[in-house]
Amino acid sequence: MKNRVFTENDITICQGSCRRGVSSETAVVNSNVRRFASEQFTVFRCDNCRSIVAADPADLEHYYKHYPYEEQKPSAAWSLICRNYLLRLKTAGLKREHSIVDYGCGSGMLISQLKKRGFKNARGFDVYNDKYSDRGVLDHKYDCVILQDVIEHSENPGDILETAIELISDSGFLCIGTPNADRIDLGSPQKNIHCLHQPYHRHIFTAACLTKLAEQKGLTLERFYDRHHSDTFWPYLNMRFYHYYCGLFDDTLDVAFDEHPFGLHYISPKALWLAFFGRFLPSPTEMVLIFRK
Ligand SMILES: [Zn+2]
Repeated sequence: MKNRVFTENDITICQGSCRRGVSSETAVVNSNVRRFASEQFTVFRCDNCRSIVAADPADLEHYYKHYPYEEQKPSAAWSLICRNYLLRLKTAGLKREHSIVDYGCGSGMLISQLKKRGFKNARGFDVYNDKYSDRGVLDHKYDCVILQDVIEHSENPGDILETAIELISDSGFLCIGTPNADRIDLGSPQKNIHCLHQPYHRHIFTAACLTKLAEQKGLTLERFYDRHHSDTFWPYLNMRFYHYYCGLFDDTLDVAFDEHPFGLHYISPKALWLAFFGRFLPSPTEMVLIFRK
């Protein structure tokens, strides 16, 4: 964990109006979802705010049908990853009696884990999942609001942020997990295929831009983590290994949900090295920010 204050005062925040300028960096990248892996999408880096933005509209309803994460099943690995997530929330002050909302909770995997660990006041909301689509959940205030892998999926991330802020109680906090555009090199789009995650990721912030936007909306950055919670010290559970492993197959995120025999590629020296020591290398691209009102 690192506390960090961003001081880039000259950042312009586009508030969802990023435009592809003459000198913008652009890249073309394949989807990292197997069903759409032959399709290519253009992304660009905004000249003003340095965000990475999907260049063209996409029929997202079509792409979210059969989204691999919706078919994710609980596992021992997932339980360990959630434990790592919960440690961060506890460091931010989360107690068992606190109320929690996971906004954009998908199939509710994190909520289930939190409840299992005694956090009975954990609720989820996801407009795309019937089980969690009750808008009544949004009529309350919460001690902890989670926006994990959500804000980058929106064409209007500022609106999502405002909705999340409305949900925070006076003493509560907001935890945002999202890719970090600072860390994505558009000169090597295929190497960044998983964080670009086209066409699903519509707007990827830099750390400074997201922080400044949140500050403009009245929040204060309390903690900054430059790693995803699935980047753990447990063997095989780190992002470096995960990306390398996917690349041994078809480099789609579906690989993580496939049944794989324990083949030679799996125990290659590099795979083994990354399985055990990948966590000690710089994180690929993810960040987690904790804000208070
Ligand atoms: Zn911009």
